[in-house]
Amino acid sequence: MLDDMLDYIEHIRSRPVWQPIPDDIRARFFGAVPRSPAPLAAVHDEFMQFVLPFAIGNAHPGFMGWVQGGGTPVGMLAEMLAAGLNANCGGRDHIPIEVERQIVRWMRNLFGFPETASGLFLTGTSLANYLAVLIARDAVLGFDVRRKGVPASKSSFTAYSSSDAHSCIAQAMDLSGLGSDALRLIPVDDHHRINLDALQRAIASDRQAGFTPFFIAGTAGTVNTGAIDNLSGLATIAHRERLWFHIDGAFGALAIMAPDLAPRLTGIERANSLAFDFHKLGQVPYDAGFLLVRDGALHRQAFSSSASYLMREDRGMAGGSPWPCDFGPDLSRAFRALKTWFTFKVFGTEALGAAISSNCALARYLEARVRDNPELQLLAPVELHIVCFRYRAKDIDEQELDRVNSEIVIRLQESGVVAPSSTLLKGRVTIRAAITNHRTTRAEIDALIDSTVRAGRLIECRQPATQETV
Ligand SMILES: *Cc1c(COP(=O)(O)O)cnc(C)c1O
Repeated sequence: MLDDMLDYIEHIRSRPVWQPIPDDIRARFFGAVPRSPAPLAAVHDEFMQFVLPFAIGNAHPGFMGWVQGGGTPVGMLAEMLAAGLNANCGGRDHIPIEVERQIVRWMRNLFGFPETASGLFLTGTSLANYLAVLIARDAVLGFDVRRKGVPASKSSFTAYSSSDAHSCIAQAMDLSGLGSDALRLIPVDDHHRINLDALQRAIASDRQAGFTPFFIAGTAGTVNTGAIDNLSGLATIAHRERLWFHIDGAFGALAIMAPDLAPRLTGIERANSLAFDFHKLGQVPYDAGFLLVRDGALHRQAFSSSASYLMREDRGMAGGSPWPCDFGPDLSRAFRALKTWFTFKVFGTEALGAAISSNCALARYLEARVRDNPELQLLAPVELHIVCFRYRAKDIDEQELDRVNSEIVIRLQESGVVAPSSTLLKGRVTIRAAITNHRTTRAEIDALIDSTVRAGRLIECRQPATQETV
């Protein structure tokens, strides 16, 4: 198994990024629950034939869709060790928890947070953003809200993010009982950064209308274009207005490890809470999200509870309080810290930062190639590792162009050579390449340009896709 996975990664360039799943292969997964045993080797064989070849392909250097990290063999091996130990990192006194605490200290240090800051591994930034809204909600409404629920009082609590913020912020408002309508989506500027004047006006007019503003979510690396909000500006407004300042730094925050990118994150050290993922540009295998909270006491107050079967002691296995389960809703928790710890120790922040710089340099190379090509059009400024562009053809209207570009993305994905995804910018379909994999090189960028143009021309002439032409 180990050999197979090391081979998979070593020879990944000779595989398609992704391939459509034949019906007969999908049908294999509709069988009943096994009642009798099968040899391990037979099940492994099934994995090799029917699971591995039909993965989404984010370990492949040609994968550029959404924002998905490529992982490393180091992370893979550490994950095996974690599974072997089968540690439950909800609590109790054992070194796996100490490994997680060490990462909390490393992250405090990396982001300039105080000694009193707390941190917690979670599945991803969606959950980390949700926890941040809950902590801020409890801090402003009072911790009674944990017992009494959100009161249906007249003055409602309002939160603010840019219109380009990830949809999980609105979902966090929904799940917290405050309602997604209470999230004000503030317009962005030409660089897709939150418009600070519009934000101030929205806060003022909400106050005037009797609302209680409590939360600002800035984004360090928006999901559509990679834009970084003016974090210092947001921190100043949040401080003046006495609002909780949260940052969604899902992929952008770890750019702090790259000396050429770190200055753009100025202000991140002033956040009340910061959510980010190790599994995106950090290259740790899925899943490894993280939440850092400036005031660890508030964080703990939002989640701690007392149950007799989770009683703490000064000695014995029940020592070492507080436990991770005091800082979030998970009780049984995987040892996500180990693959992250291995990744930081084996590579170090310099190499991890250099990999992020290199992904961003490839994005600038792609940007230059798009600008040089009259058949292509850049649709957003390139801030980090994301490039939004489209194929353009003469004499066709915007709706037809949308259809052509959607079809290009599907054909590229089906070709297995390069796989961007699509999104909408100002309502128009955009080809979106997020260079999140440390294995990606200029060769894949060149292939993306060439196959986009070739597919675009074919679609314009209404020719179907064939293996040779795309
Ligand atoms: C990926 C992403 C999220 C969601 O993170 P998950 O780890 O997928 O839960 C939130 N915000 C931004 C900006 C993202 O890129």
